[in-house]
Amino acid sequence: MAILIVNKDGKDCPFIYCDHCKLEIFEAELANAIWLGDSRGEEGFRFDAGQVHKECDDPFQRAHPAPNGSRWYWQGLNHHLYMLLKNCGYDADKGKATKELLDGIGF
Ligand SMILES: [Zn+2]
Repeated sequence: MAILIVNKDGKDCPFIYCDHCKLEIFEAELANAIWLGDSRGEEGFRFDAGQVHKECDDPFQRAHPAPNGSRWYWQGLNHHLYMLLKNCGYDADKGKATKELLDGIGF
């Protein structure tokens, strides 16, 4: 997962970078979360997730072929981020309060 802290305008901020082209992902709707999955779907098995621009998804998968017995899975990054926050107990109401707090201090 290419989440990096980058100093911009004197502030340390988190950004997501494409695991293929290494450029910043500006729009979640134009990117995918990807992971090498096991088709057996074993309960509790863990996979590292990456992020790629949608146009970088196929080139990334061609550059990193799935080993026998596994394959690449994907999910729209916008949906992935929503599920990630939900699984951390962070709901949309909290997100609104956080947005107001961060907007108020110039982030
Ligand atoms: Zn890319």
